[in-house]
Amino acid sequence: MAISFDLSGKAALVTGANTGIGQAIAVALAEAGADVAVAGRSEPAETLERLAKTGRKTLNIRADLSSIEPVDRIVAEATAGLGRIDILVNNAGIIRRADLADFTEEDWDAVVDTNLKTLFFLSQAAARHMMAQGSGKIINIASLLSFQGGIRVPSYAAAKSGVAGVTKAMANELAPQGVQVNAIAPGYIQTNNTAALQADETRNRQIVERIPTGRWGRAEDIAGAAVFLASPAADYVTGQVLAVDGGWLAR
Ligand code: NAP
Repeated sequence: MAISFDLSGKAALVTGANTGIGQAIAVALAEAGADVAVAGRSEPAETLERLAKTGRKTLNIRADLSSIEPVDRIVAEATAGLGRIDILVNNAGIIRRADLADFTEEDWDAVVDTNLKTLFFLSQAAARHMMAQGSGKIINIASLLSFQGGIRVPSYAAAKSGVAGVTKAMANELAPQGVQVNAIAPGYIQTNNTAALQADETRNRQIVERIPTGRWGRAEDIAGAAVFLASPAADYVTGQVLAVDGGWLAR
């Protein structure tokens, strides 16, 4: 049997797809054949335009993921609109930077709630549907800070380390139900999330010097790993955190 990366007939739900990595993943999944629902708090005009060019069915779900309040509605809207959910990409995320001594409870809660708590409860809601269906792929967007501590981002490091843990926890429980759960840990990618680092001349130089590939990543650099993990080619891959980082962690 030929190895298949084809997503024809599959339905995907991608959070935070109006910009950056989420947009690149949503478009790549559609180009690989999937119908795609996007869920986020901002109007994803550019993403919808790019998705329309793929000819796949698309759906726009508006939801603020800073709390778990909308998770059941998101899954209900996606299944009603696309008929099913085969692939969930938990991409929406935020970052807050401050010195340890000044770090606030608000900066802690906002990041942990969006990046970890909502990720788990949206996965739970989608998993109920996938378990009934007997198949599914959940792909969480982790970070290098799932492995490292970073600088001035303690709530982000905590949340993304939690994403690695909960990816494995969900993978163990869902594997017998035909659902694979994996994470992608992007390296330093040029998006809104890293605008402050790119603008800081010293940090920018230090970062590029440490990346063996010698450049920042582009959002599109993450999309291939997402298509792979969403595809039948990855049916025996579960509980993994795949770094896509230009070699950063190898150094
Ligand atoms: P981005 O362009 O800022 O994308 C973040 C996305 O999450 C946006 O669509 C944003 O929507 C959405 N989002 C944030 N809070 C939300 C909320 N409360 N409700 C709904 N949507 C919300 O940055 P990005 O780099 O592509 O980030 C995507 C993911 O990759 C994040 O999980 C991030 O932690 C992770 N990541 C990024 C890097 C990197 O180097 N860039 C590295 C490792 C991991 P709005 O536009 O409305 O804010």
